[in-house]
Amino acid sequence: MIKIDEAMKIIRDQKIVWPVEKVALIEALGRIMVKGMTSPLDSPPFAKAAMDGFAIDSKDNSSKYKILEIIGAGDTPTKKIKEGTCSKIMTGAMMPAGADKIIRVEFADEQNGFALPHTPEPTGNVIAKAENLKAGDIVLTPCRLEAKEIGIIASLGFPKVEVSKRPVIGVLTTGSELKNPGEKLAPGQIYNSNGLQMSAQIISAGCIPKYYGIIVDDRKSLSDAVAKAFRECDIVLLSGGVSKGDYDYVPEVLEDNGMKTLFHRVAIKPGRPLLFGRKDDIFVFGLPGNPVSTFVTFEVFVKTLIFHMAGMEYKPTLYKGKLSRKVKRRDTERTEFHPVIIRGESVEPIKYLGSSHLNAMAEANGMMTIPNGIAEYKEGETVSVRSI
Ligand code: AMP
Ligand code: MG
Repeated sequence: MIKIDEAMKIIRDQKIVWPVEKVALIEALGRIMVKGMTSPLDSPPFAKAAMDGFAIDSKDNSSKYKILEIIGAGDTPTKKIKEGTCSKIMTGAMMPAGADKIIRVEFADEQNGFALPHTPEPTGNVIAKAENLKAGDIVLTPCRLEAKEIGIIASLGFPKVEVSKRPVIGVLTTGSELKNPGEKLAPGQIYNSNGLQMSAQIISAGCIPKYYGIIVDDRKSLSDAVAKAFRECDIVLLSGGVSKGDYDYVPEVLEDNGMKTLFHRVAIKPGRPLLFGRKDDIFVFGLPGNPVSTFVTFEVFVKTLIFHMAGMEYKPTLYKGKLSRKVKRRDTERTEFHPVIIRGESVEPIKYLGSSHLNAMAEANGMMTIPNGIAEYKEGETVSVRSI
């Protein structure tokens, strides 16, 4: 059994050249942008009005200004502003020559072609050329693209973006006791929740799931499914059959199919039997079958690999908060992930009976980490939580 840090290092040390592709921005949500981006332009590209109003020279304190023209957004001004004159201007329009201030429309009356200010205008209401961004500035570093990044890339004028290709991730759920939702359960059977849970995790990680169904605990069935998945996928995930039971064939069948085991058994709770291996450029995880273990090991290990393949370090969103009650444990050998509710500044551990207790996750919005060696956290102690 190895420590969690060693297991993470083994994943992060894997060498892989993973392809990139250009996609339209509308397709880019959730994808990993592999290179940073510099701005090809100034933003805004011209000094522009931040308010509807009257553009004047700020040194000109006349009591009335003759309106030379009306400048709408997208127009090019044709008149130069001189003393006693202004142009009526709309938000977003280019400032006319000679003007550096806008008296907002609410602060002046308009009569017979003149603007008559009645309230002092305290602000300039102009966005200077390149005030937000200069050509050549670094705008984005490599990241997973969310809506705001897509907005930023569009604002730079790019219709497409270079992203890491989406890995195809095979899902093999092993277990002779499993039935798919919608089927009738016979005695001794349970529903296969991992198949859909893992597929959903794969989709939310920006990858493509490929479901191979339920594989009964039999060497031949498992070997056939593994061989097929090795031909069709970039990453292969198996759930169940990875521990020490008589019918836990996953480790040996994977090796029989050419996979080299890189680690098996990690000092974590839940998820100790976790297996990681590689066959050429295909990565394989054997995830323990208990649904909370499957969930947690995907979040912690599989996501790390997915980001690593794209050349990035996976950094979960972490919170710090104060424990609402004491947490105590006897076994301190493993790093433990415990479902919690983050409520404001407080972290409330959920009553959780173990790794088969999937419905305990319903309320959880975070996972508290208890590192190995720690036996107790006191009430009020600050703990680290990753959001889920
Ligand atoms: P295993 O890792 O195969 O020893 O399975 C551990 C526990 O998880 C057993 O109680 C299994 O019945 C359960 N389990 C395994 N696979 C699944 C699955 N796909 N969905 C729900 N529970 C599962
Ligand atoms: Mg099993």
